[in-house]
Amino acid sequence: MDHLSASQMNLYFQCSLKYKFQYIDKLPKPFKASGLIFGSAIHSAISWFHKNQLTGRNVPVEKLFSIFNADWYGQKVESVIRYKETETETALLLLGRELLNLYYHQPKALVKGTEVPFTVPLVNPRNGENLRMNLEGFIDLLEENDSIVEFKTSVKTIDLKDVNLQLTAYSYAYEMLYGKRPRNLRVVNFLKLKKPKMISLEAKNGTIDHQRFFNLAEAALKGIRSGVFFPRHSWWCDGCEFVEPCRAWDGK
Ligand code: SF4
Repeated sequence: MDHLSASQMNLYFQCSLKYKFQYIDKLPKPFKASGLIFGSAIHSAISWFHKNQLTGRNVPVEKLFSIFNADWYGQKVESVIRYKETETETALLLLGRELLNLYYHQPKALVKGTEVPFTVPLVNPRNGENLRMNLEGFIDLLEENDSIVEFKTSVKTIDLKDVNLQLTAYSYAYEMLYGKRPRNLRVVNFLKLKKPKMISLEAKNGTIDHQRFFNLAEAALKGIRSGVFFPRHSWWCDGCEFVEPCRAWDGK
């Protein structure tokens, strides 16, 4: 294990056995959920759009649709896509276009970076204790006004509590990199509804706690290093790629 990320932490706290299958055993995934493919294709199109914005190039909205489609079909070649009962590929491709169209036509701030990678040490803010483990990740969008933006696609409005760990990781990394906290942390939530919608949610003051984040990172690392892995059955098992190995798992 050479680094920790917010998504690794989230997965470890959600189901530590799934974490083991994915990150330690590196088991192949028999399928990819359509929601993941869709979110990744939206991210690719938006990132490409902002890369052009950074170089001062205006791009037509149709080019975003092309990037979305190219990413979708690229992933389709590599993985079996598992759709929900009510979904079809055609409808999802159309939905992607509509959401990108909404994003393209909204007013935008000046951009400082897109898909910004970071690698920062995990250091206790209270006493300087260094966990000797880096936190790694990508910030979807950094705006000139010190705002961090995360893009999420979902069928229901995101609850900010569910993305708090991720936003706090970005805030922590930002402070380590720039010596100050971001001005604000926003989630742009693309809603996959019959009438597609895009909403902006901002993390409230007092909800971003770097000390608590460090403590959670330390707890996750302790659990992983000690080999503490067990199944945690809940509604998310429906979409789990490791149902078979989970059933066969004998506790060792
Ligand atoms: S099926 Fe459920 S309990 Fe088993 S590994 Fe997957 S998420 Fe965890």
